[in-house]
Amino acid sequence: TVLADQIAAGEVVERPASVVKELVENAVDAHASQVDVLILASGVQSIRVIDDGDGIADEDVLTAFKRHATSKITSRKDLFQVRSLGFRGEALPSIASVADVVMATSTGTSGTSIHYRGGKLLHQAPAPLRQGTDITVTDLFFNTPARLKYLKSPQTELANIVDVVNRLALSYPKVAFRLVHNSKELLKTAGRGDLQRVIAGIYGVANARKMVAIAGNDDDFQLKGYVALPALTRSSRQYITILINGRAIKNQQLTKAVIQGYGSKLMVGRYPIAVIDLRMDPLLVDVNVHPTKQEVRLSKEPALAKLISTTITARLADVNL
Ligand code: ADP
Ligand code: MG
Repeated sequence: TVLADQIAAGEVVERPASVVKELVENAVDAHASQVDVLILASGVQSIRVIDDGDGIADEDVLTAFKRHATSKITSRKDLFQVRSLGFRGEALPSIASVADVVMATSTGTSGTSIHYRGGKLLHQAPAPLRQGTDITVTDLFFNTPARLKYLKSPQTELANIVDVVNRLALSYPKVAFRLVHNSKELLKTAGRGDLQRVIAGIYGVANARKMVAIAGNDDDFQLKGYVALPALTRSSRQYITILINGRAIKNQQLTKAVIQGYGSKLMVGRYPIAVIDLRMDPLLVDVNVHPTKQEVRLSKEPALAKLISTTITARLADVNL
C-alpha cells in the first residue's frame, strides 16, 4: 500500500541526498559507465539521474516500483558479499510514495516511460530512448510535510548530496560521474578507473598533486590509497574517505587511525584529505549494522587501525626525507 511505502520511505528516504544515493546506486548496479546527476534547489525542487546502464525491460517496470519485489538477498550478512548495492527493493517504491517520479528507461530494444505521484501510477507509455534510464524526482515530501520540515538549510542539503556523489565517484573510478547543481558543474570524473584522477576531479588537480600514494598490508587487509601532505588540510573530517571492498563506509576508529597516522604533523582542528581503499574478506565486516547507515564495524578493527596509521606515518616520514 501507499502508506506502507511511505513508512518504508521513512527509513530509506530521509533527505534529498538519500534519494540521490539510491538512484545513483541503481545506475551503478545497472552497469552504467556514465552517470549524470542534475539537481535543482538542493534537490528539493528536482533530482534527475541519467545513466547509460542496462535499463529496465517493459514487463519489469511496474515490478520495480513494488516494495520487496526485487529483494536480492535475505540477510544482512550478505551485504558485503553481494556485488550489487541494492538489495532491499525498497528505494523506488519509497521514493515514488513521497514525491513525483517520472522515469524513462530502455534496454535498447524497447522503452517505457512511467509517472508516479504520491505512490499512485498516473501514466505509463512506450518510450523510444537510447539505452539506459532517465529518472526525475520532483516535489520531494510534498505529501509528508513533517518530513519537509526536518530538512536542513539548502547549503547543508546540497553538501550532503555532494558528499554522497563524491563517495560514489571514489568507490567507482571506472564510472564517469557528473554532478550539476542549478546548472553549475560541481563534479566531473573521467571514468578511466584511475583513483588519483577521481581525486583530482573531486578536490581539484592542484590538491591532488599534494597527495601521495600509500600501500600496505598484513594477513587480513590490503590497503592502498592517497593521503594529503600535512600542508593540505581541512577543518572537517569529512574529507577522509574509507572504502571497504569498493564501498564507502563510515567508521570512527578508522577515521581516527588516519588522523593518528599524521601524529604531530597536523595542527589541532585540522584534518587531511585522504582516500583509504581497503580490501578484505567480507566476513570481517560486522553485519550488525543498519543497511542504510554507512557506519560499519569490523572484527579485527584494532589491527586494521594500526595498519592504517603506521602505513601513513611511514609514508609521510619518507616524504620529508
Ligand atoms: P534494489 O536496488 O534494492 O533492487 P530499487 O527500488 O532501488 O531496489 O530498484 C528496484 C529495481 O529496479 C532494481 O532491482 C532494478 O532491477 C531496477 N532499477 C532501478 N533503477 C534502475 C536503473 N537506473 N537501471 C536499471 N534498472 C534499474
Ligand atoms: Mg536500489
